[in-house]
Amino acid sequence: MRTNSCGLRVASCVLKGLALMGVVVTALAGCAGEQGAKRQWVETDSGRWLVHDMNRPAPAVVWAGDEVAEAPSDAVVLFDGGDLSKWESAKRKGRPAPWKMGDGYFETVKDTGYIRTKEKFGSCQLHIEFATPAKVEGRSQGKGNSGVFLMERYEVQVLDSYNNRTYPDGQCGALYGRAVPLVNSSRKPGQWQSYDIIFHRPVFKGNKVVRKASFTVFHNGVLIHDNVELDGGTGWINEHAVTSYKPHEDKGAIALQDHGNPVRYRNIWVRELED
Ligand code: MG
Repeated sequence: MRTNSCGLRVASCVLKGLALMGVVVTALAGCAGEQGAKRQWVETDSGRWLVHDMNRPAPAVVWAGDEVAEAPSDAVVLFDGGDLSKWESAKRKGRPAPWKMGDGYFETVKDTGYIRTKEKFGSCQLHIEFATPAKVEGRSQGKGNSGVFLMERYEVQVLDSYNNRTYPDGQCGALYGRAVPLVNSSRKPGQWQSYDIIFHRPVFKGNKVVRKASFTVFHNGVLIHDNVELDGGTGWINEHAVTSYKPHEDKGAIALQDHGNPVRYRNIWVRELED
């Protein structure tokens, strides 16, 4: 393999100042509580935008290399091409993960629901590889959609974002509805891609969040989130809104989304981190 953790290419320095996140400040203008939330606005370096605003400027496209990293010796391997024994159905708790096995990978199966790890994790480093469908179908959020959820709550979007216009806070690598990736380093449909995610869980005291969740994410070795704090949950409420923080336990499963598109996954490993 050509790349390793030391070789992850950092494309952020110049772009960081120009980019659209890291400065995401949520202003809940016109928001009348979670249930009544209709439109949420974010103040960014590029202006004031609605959550999931199609007119928000999309990140620059950066081409990544073709190689991916191997699991380090101290990682918990969640999938190495063998079977899905470390995973279960999220829809039918405790039942086997109902997704399709392929040669060294597995694939989402429409309408079977999310799958999740049996083991739970809090702050962690996660490596995961995915491929959106080689047969290109759909558009925007309907094109190669899946997602990687930390603690079953905080989504790093998986999407075919190779020549696919969508709202930038929902494109591939977005912290869904919360943060636009620094650049678009997506490979072509059908090609294997990788995420290397450094996640720190939120800390709650009673009903209050005393430390927000944070993400650093490399997409195909390119930095797309540089220690970005989430201002709340990534859950979808409606077209222009996402969920607020809700206190939860210190550890949760890593989940993968069934969004109806046949997305493939392979080579998944995790290393627990100090909070
Ligand atoms: Mg998704």
